[in-house]
Amino acid sequence: MLPADFASSIRTIPNYPKPGILFRDITTLLGDARAFRRAVDELVQPWAGSKIDKVAGIEARGFILGGAVAHQLSAGFVPIRKKGKLPHQTVRMAYALEYGEDEIEMHVDAIAPGERVLLVDDLIATGGTATGAVKLLKTCGAVVEAACFIVDLPDLGGADKLRQAGVSVRTLVAFPGH
Ligand code: AMP
Repeated sequence: MLPADFASSIRTIPNYPKPGILFRDITTLLGDARAFRRAVDELVQPWAGSKIDKVAGIEARGFILGGAVAHQLSAGFVPIRKKGKLPHQTVRMAYALEYGEDEIEMHVDAIAPGERVLLVDDLIATGGTATGAVKLLKTCGAVVEAACFIVDLPDLGGADKLRQAGVSVRTLVAFPGH
């Protein structure tokens, strides 16, 4: 099979949401049946046939990809959300934003100690969000097998930061800059 050209399925919006940002919009990839299927197939490929208990997706685009990945791996799905959105008792973790910090949370009983978890989001930039999510999962006793993203912005160093923290990282396409 030819290598997939994921970059051409992703739309770039300059100066969104702020001047100077190149927003990598994956809705064009999600809307393309072949590209969407191929992306999910390639994200799960290293874990096909291995036992993953739960896929944790980061709000909001990580829910779309994470749901499909969980289905493919016959795993459960766990939403990691911005604070205040989940109805049951939660555990919370602060994470770094470009300026300041925010908090993400998940249900306290979403993961049982020792469960093998795959973390999924659409894109890794500085790695603040994903690093916070990994810490949150670990506080519940999760074994974080890997973190998967369609897009890597390697110049921002997030994927390297996660690897240095001992998490294996899978990405499908890299864009230079931010
Ligand atoms: P970070 O915590 O810096 O790794 O940022 C990752 C989160 O912010 C992901 O949930 C992305 O969806 C979003 N994000 C950051 N930068 C971009 C970008 N240039 N284009 C699209 N989404 C982005």
